[in-house]
Amino acid sequence: MTHARYPHLFSPLDLGFTKLKNRALMGSMHTGLEEAENGFERQAVFFAERARNGVGMIITGGIPPNLEAGRGSKLSTPEEAAQHRLITEAVHAADPDVKICLQILHTGPLARTPDCVAPSAIKSRIGAFVPKELDEAGIEKQIADFANCAAMAQKAGYDGVEIIGSAGYLISTFLVEKTNRRTDRWGGSFENRMRFPIEVIRRTRAAVGPNFILVFRIAAMDMLQGGMSWDEVVTLGKAVVAEGVNIVSTHFCWHEAFVPTIATMVPRAAFTRVTGRLRKELGVPMITSNRINMPQVAEDVLARGDGDIVSMARPMLADPELVRKAAEGREDEINTCIACNQACLDHTFTGRMVSCLVNPRACHETELKIEAATKPRRLAVVGAGPAGLSYAVTAAERGHKVTLIEAGPEIGGQFNLARRIPGKEEFDETLRYYRRMIGKLGIELRLNTRADADSLKKEGFDEVIVATGIEPRTPPIPGIDHPKVVGYIDAILGRKPVGQRVAIIGAGGIGFDVAELVSHAGVSAALDVEVFAREWGIDFANHPRGGVTGVEPKVETSGREIFLMQRKAESLGRNLGRTTGWTHRLALQRRGVQMVSGVEYLKIDDAGLHTRVGGEDRLFAVDTVIVCAGQTPLRTLYDALVAKGVRATLVGGAFEAAELDAKRAIDQATRLAAAA
Ligand code: NAP
Ligand code: SF4
Repeated sequence: MTHARYPHLFSPLDLGFTKLKNRALMGSMHTGLEEAENGFERQAVFFAERARNGVGMIITGGIPPNLEAGRGSKLSTPEEAAQHRLITEAVHAADPDVKICLQILHTGPLARTPDCVAPSAIKSRIGAFVPKELDEAGIEKQIADFANCAAMAQKAGYDGVEIIGSAGYLISTFLVEKTNRRTDRWGGSFENRMRFPIEVIRRTRAAVGPNFILVFRIAAMDMLQGGMSWDEVVTLGKAVVAEGVNIVSTHFCWHEAFVPTIATMVPRAAFTRVTGRLRKELGVPMITSNRINMPQVAEDVLARGDGDIVSMARPMLADPELVRKAAEGREDEINTCIACNQACLDHTFTGRMVSCLVNPRACHETELKIEAATKPRRLAVVGAGPAGLSYAVTAAERGHKVTLIEAGPEIGGQFNLARRIPGKEEFDETLRYYRRMIGKLGIELRLNTRADADSLKKEGFDEVIVATGIEPRTPPIPGIDHPKVVGYIDAILGRKPVGQRVAIIGAGGIGFDVAELVSHAGVSAALDVEVFAREWGIDFANHPRGGVTGVEPKVETSGREIFLMQRKAESLGRNLGRTTGWTHRLALQRRGVQMVSGVEYLKIDDAGLHTRVGGEDRLFAVDTVIVCAGQTPLRTLYDALVAKGVRATLVGGAFEAAELDAKRAIDQATRLAAAA
């Protein structure tokens, strides 16, 4: 039966020898479970939970075909294949109609081993080692290992494999001249450069026979200056299809490239038009991806003909029930991926287990369980910021009776500030999710209510959870009470005017956010693909090599002169997210924001901000000073409750403000509520 709201998303896809029940794919994402203790058991639970909740196909995290291919547990022997059976059996038991494919990932020069290999001995900017140049025998071995890995995947009960040919991993390094300087039959002309992927596909198909899904992930736009041209992309696509690929998946990434492709500042479905164009050339089902985080976005992409299957990797971390909720008309209950990368890719690239900022259960399903409370209790949660909200929702899901008390007129806390920053509009979705869950779970919400210890005690709650958050730190600089000084909350909420020359004291996450806000002009690039393309030098219309113009982009600015400052001598923004920090730094530099480190603040007066920088006195003749100097915990209520003998628990910023972020607050609150 056709689905009324999402007819394309919920239509089956016939691959001839097998069928996908719908077009929703949980795309590949390396989580760290692949190498963890009890990793197979944990992956089995993780994937089965997604399979039970409606997804049509799953592609696992990347698995190396041999030891030189990357960190993690390789798959190359029958014994290793037997371990994978735990995963495939759990997924097929959850729903026999769900297909699961293993991603074969050979990271080539990005492998964290001195034995890493590549077509040429060229170190990647983000690689750890100079790779060894493969000789003929080495190339032959790599090809054979791909085919063998696929055969082992088949033995393990997978329905297919995906071979990744993009992102700066081994296969893609054969494809572009920047990383392939060979002069033998594996380098030089494009025909020679694509010989390696063609051989990999040919041998893999021969190893697994015709009735096994073979997906090839192609760099449809690799974002690399001197990357693949459009003609080369099409030529490669046609060649892999001719060798037996059933599905082509488009990737828009080369890990070294200076173009954000999945961060929250990227508009939803920004790149799918490229898949649509390639789809017309190849004539096989195509997977499209990047910033598709809600069912309506997926439906629109499919309806436009931009793909046959929609990949959602991070959104399935954020909400394992995403597809089921869409199918049942409960999309307002979806806990949406906000593309922050903070708990997923930032963790991957710093060697930590992946999870999700908005869903700390992701990849922790076996230890963080939200189960019905044995003895439901009456709980008051004071403060409706990220910590209070996640505590309240988790506790209510477990059957506790929760009253959520907030002094302000709306829920959200720091999220209400974040959502106002250009490029962070996705935070609105998190607030929509919490609003809906408050209603659905029958949480009593009291807004505009300042809780005090006496009344909380009188109401007789079994426990009070104090999520009162933080107060901004006021640094003891002479003149800090001068009228030109504005706190970051007032600046973000637009409660106080900001002049044309601005100094920002403090360059943490909030200092960067404020600099973005006050330097910005025009439409947010996150809401307009054309503006985004202009700001990051992408040319969708002409598709030059890599899809990028190579010319310094023109960015609209507010015209303000802005100085972003910190006392530390190091470069600014070092503590921002590993995978997104550079985007924020580059965006501000392009808007002319001047970054000043090693600053000693002397005083603020009518003339401006007096400082000492590098041992020399320097006056910044600004008309506004915005203070973003961190926070201190707000614990007055907690102390009063304890003094009155009321059982109270601190969470979030009220517990610990230093280095606080929403990830830590939500994780802590969820875990406490799961145990309450
Ligand atoms: P923060 O990250 O702790 O940064 C505080 C800044 O103020 C630092 O640059 C610090 O640098 C400066 N500072 C601290 N004490 C000061 C003092 N007494 N006088 C002058 N300057 C002082 O705090 P935040 O920027 O308020 O952010 C709060 C949390 O929200 C952070 O954990 C952050 O990660 C999170 N957040 C994250 C994002 C994101 O994009 N991921 C965005 C917004 C907020 P110096 O000590 O060197 O001067
Ligand atoms: Fe999405 Fe952020 Fe969760 Fe990653 S951590 S899945 S980007 S919401």
